[in-house]
Amino acid sequence: MKSCKSAAASAIAVLAVALTATACGGDSGDASDGPTSSSRYQERPSLPTYQVAQDVNIDSPTLEKAQEAGKLVIGAKNDQPFLGFEEANGKRSGFDIEIAKMIAADLGFSPDMIEFKTVDTSNREAAISKGEIDLYVGTYTINDERKKQVGFAGPYYKAGADLLVRESDGTIGGPFSLEGKTVCSVKGATALREIKKPDYNTTTVEAPKYSECVRRLLAQEVDAVTTDDAILMGYAAQRPDKLKVVGNPFTEEPYGIGMNKDDKVLRDAVSDAIEAHDENGDHKKAYDATLGLSGSKYGGAAMVQRY
Ligand code: GLU
Repeated sequence: MKSCKSAAASAIAVLAVALTATACGGDSGDASDGPTSSSRYQERPSLPTYQVAQDVNIDSPTLEKAQEAGKLVIGAKNDQPFLGFEEANGKRSGFDIEIAKMIAADLGFSPDMIEFKTVDTSNREAAISKGEIDLYVGTYTINDERKKQVGFAGPYYKAGADLLVRESDGTIGGPFSLEGKTVCSVKGATALREIKKPDYNTTTVEAPKYSECVRRLLAQEVDAVTTDDAILMGYAAQRPDKLKVVGNPFTEEPYGIGMNKDDKVLRDAVSDAIEAHDENGDHKKAYDATLGLSGSKYGGAAMVQRY
């Protein structure tokens, strides 16, 4: 039997933990234990399956290269529960992973033809520009500065920067109460750039990954972690006894799919795919079975903006 702690490391079990956080009691017990476990599992929404398009003929250089290679290389996060998470056995799960799968299907690639590569926040533009990945799906905010280096399809979700703090901390109510505190974020993240502004008068610490910031928060080495609310809700759902999200978002973060800047044909094809899976209900269904379980609110339909 797995402990709730080890279950928290497993994305599948994390979903059950999120649904039954109080029953699990934080760190002890087993998410699949107990008399009510079967009914709990019945409550869990199921993931959609995506029909793989045949004989796809899209005049995109990125896609032609992927077709020749017989695989689509997609950059993703591996430490963001409910969004982009990789278990010890290599299995990936989360809303971003589902978005990647639905788009790949429309481009003619089945899940076994996707090669996921972990690429963290600070390395995304380089990985895309060098052609190391064909697409990137990982809480990637569309903004004008990044558009100078990469192309974006979407958005498919809208998040906002927020703060994760220790459950026992009653002193932080938003970004303006960080004076004298230490805040952790990741290099290259939009929230890090925002929180460094003199208006907030706080001290920042940079880590390579958000999971490292969370470790530092739990170890009392920092007072808060800042990034998108969607990401922070996932960490709080894993440790509801120890962590909470302040719930006072202070930026807008529309998530896009990153790709080669000049491949406009691919950009449009990916935006078509997002719209199609929004209309047929997959987007909402995938959300309900992943990110929705963390307590994040559904932001409504994806509002694709082409350029
Ligand atoms: N969405 C924000 C960004 O793209 C933060 C999340 C992340 O680092 O992926 O910078």
